Amino acid sequence: MLIVLSGPSGVGKGTVRQAMMADSFKDFKYSVSMTTRTPRPGEKDGVDYYFRTKEQFQQHIADGEMLEWARYVNNFYGTPLGPVNKTLDEGQDVLLEIEVNGAMQVREKCPDGVFIFLTPPDLQELKQRIEKRGTDDAATILKRMEKARNEIKMMENYDYAVVNDKVDLAVKRIESIITSEHNRVPRVID
Ligand code: 5GP
Repeated sequence: MLIVLSGPSGVGKGTVRQAMMADSFKDFKYSVSMTTRTPRPGEKDGVDYYFRTKEQFQQHIADGEMLEWARYVNNFYGTPLGPVNKTLDEGQDVLLEIEVNGAMQVREKCPDGVFIFLTPPDLQELKQRIEKRGTDDAATILKRMEKARNEIKMMENYDYAVVNDKVDLAVKRIESIITSEHNRVPRVID
């Protein structure tokens, strides 16, 4: 099963993913992404990311070796296809933790994947405000509402929306989704 964890920037995808990897439930392989950004202190090549130059990254794209890729804050990020296929062929779940543009590319290519959208805890509240509309017209509120509106629209492309109010709770919710997905009645093809 291909599990895609995505969501707006700043929602805490990386933190949730790391907590999932540290949890005893862990029964998936994390897909190490490729990036052109410079490593942060403590980050290791091949563990946190495959750190590559822009030229190398573009060559991988040209060679058709990326499942998806996106530009994010002046750098490239992408999922190498080979390791994902290998893990799936071995019968193991793969977890991708990627931003939303990349997730939509995966949705196109792998419609059977499980797509999980991590949401900030105040999204519901913002949604209600948007629905009431006009209660507050301060520029900053409008901006936030615009952002939330876009995020809510994006959420509709996913199978699940998980609120990241507390990391351990978000992890439990995602784990229960994975368990449920493994217990689905198989679709029968006539
Ligand atoms: P950071 O530089 O903070 O590690 O990551 C920045 C953003 O890139 C995060 O939103 C992260 O989820 C996203 N990201 C990490 N790996 C990939 C990837 O392989 N593909 C895409 N599309 N986004 C990624």
